[in-house]
Amino acid sequence: MADKKGNRKNNRNNDEDYNPKFRKMRKKVCVLCSDKNFVLDYKNPEQLRKFINDKGKILPRRATGACAKHQRDITIAVKRARHIAVLPYTQN
Ligand SMILES: [Zn+2]
Repeated sequence: MADKKGNRKNNRNNDEDYNPKFRKMRKKVCVLCSDKNFVLDYKNPEQLRKFINDKGKILPRRATGACAKHQRDITIAVKRARHIAVLPYTQN
């Protein structure tokens, strides 16, 4: 007699989908989209310095919070600024 014990516990944990790693993050808003008067200028190192790190590298989108379109503009502006020696290519 195949007496299957149908008491197999349902170990599925319904609390599993709670992962503290993925807590609610504040959605970043693109600085160039939110501020209409913000004009990206490659001759303005003070403005562009917000988009590069201390090594002179261009920050990724997750750090700048810029949208795809404006991140492209930032990248072009920083590269132009480097070319005319307004920003450094590298530091140290
Ligand atoms: Zn934008």
